[in-house]
Amino acid sequence: MGYTKAEILKELKAANVKFLRLQITDILGVVKNVEVPESQFEKALDGEIMFDGSSIEGFTRIEESDMLLRPDYDTFVVLPDLVEDPTRGRVARLICDVAYPDGRPFEGDPRYVLKRQVERLKKLGFDDMYAGPEPEFFLFLRTPEGLPTVETHDKAGYFDLAPLDKGEEARRDMVNALVAMGFEIEASHHEVAPGQHEIDFKYAEAVKTADSIATFKWVVKRVALNHGLHATFLPKPIAGINGSGMHTHLSLFKGGQNAFFDPQAPYQLSQTALHFIAGLLEHADGMVAITNPLVNSYKRLTPGYEAPTNIAWSASNRSAMIRIPARRGVGTRAELRMPDPSANPYLALAVMLAAGLDGIEKGLLPPPPIQRNIYQMSVRERRKHKIRELPGTLREALEALRKDRVIQEALGEHVYTHFVQAKQMEWDEYRVTVHQWELDRYLATY
Ligand code: ADP
Ligand code: MG
Ligand code: MG
Repeated sequence: MGYTKAEILKELKAANVKFLRLQITDILGVVKNVEVPESQFEKALDGEIMFDGSSIEGFTRIEESDMLLRPDYDTFVVLPDLVEDPTRGRVARLICDVAYPDGRPFEGDPRYVLKRQVERLKKLGFDDMYAGPEPEFFLFLRTPEGLPTVETHDKAGYFDLAPLDKGEEARRDMVNALVAMGFEIEASHHEVAPGQHEIDFKYAEAVKTADSIATFKWVVKRVALNHGLHATFLPKPIAGINGSGMHTHLSLFKGGQNAFFDPQAPYQLSQTALHFIAGLLEHADGMVAITNPLVNSYKRLTPGYEAPTNIAWSASNRSAMIRIPARRGVGTRAELRMPDPSANPYLALAVMLAAGLDGIEKGLLPPPPIQRNIYQMSVRERRKHKIRELPGTLREALEALRKDRVIQEALGEHVYTHFVQAKQMEWDEYRVTVHQWELDRYLATY
């Protein structure tokens, strides 16, 4: 960490790197790369490489298409052999901020959106927001032509050890590759559904975590491909079995101390923690279009599969949208359970932080925590506890976002309008499509 330009140039030479990949993420969360050869390394490190922003989904209007890539030196990494076969020349990677030709940060850059929220937090005297994600994904077979399927050979279940499944081998290579790239992997295991896996990495500052999630997703896909498999972060690839979530653990630190921990308070949760939780509850509807951005995301948020459907918090129960794990002291945190791994990690963490900050700034307090299984509560009981439901479709989620000024402001005008436009089109396309289910259900009868 704390690389200088000279050090990076030295490393590039020492590792015999031939290509430098400049990584950014578009508004819809897709990782994009501009790859430059050796002759351009200095220019790239000086942040002078231009790219055509209009070629990237939701990035720019035509009149502002020339954008600069400003590398963050701390994200420098030489890609390991498991990720990039070095026979055609070794590849290194840098994550970039996007700037206008005059050097101003570009408002449409999701990384900048997150940085802005972190700045707001720091102005209130906090060190940073720490985030620890638990991304889940499926490993599926490919057809002989290489097309992805939803088939898996694997019969294993949660934490299964034997017999070793095909995915296990791929997952070990993924972990090895990620470790070689500087990830601190805390756990990796088979998940509930056949073919489903989870790899957890250690919590870190918000921007670093978003960078890690973006990198994680393409590394996992790439290593899966090397094993002839398809890795997918689609939230609900198969109806009737668990979908893939990305539970996200959140805490704030101040002066090197966990600001959520107060040994004297009820539940040992500080006022800051309660305000933050209240903010997350308040803006849950408004931010879910960002944390769960696909039509398909809402097929995961259904009762019975460990995914939340109600806006509530709990000190223990996993049916709630926010769970407070038992750990206290430095590990005091809130686990947000609705996000899924199809989300743009920068925007997702930005809206979580914005929601929490709103709770802090307005001094909001949450209702008492729900200690029971919410799935088993009657509608009346839920109403009594003021438990609202999460939006049930992408359309409802977009409506809620349109009503939430705080989340809109966090995204900024550019990202908000482009995001809503793209997602509205996605929804409309889905709505006019005649799906197989309709034919199966109606064709014979009507
Ligand atoms: P446990 O505390 O139950 O042992 P883990 O250590 O497995 O749980 O942590 C689960 C997730 O929570 C990991 O991704 C971890 O990095 C994250 N985590 C731990 N402490 C914090 C914290 N203070 N802030 C944010 N995330 C945290
Ligand atoms: Mg899990
Ligand atoms: Mg979890």
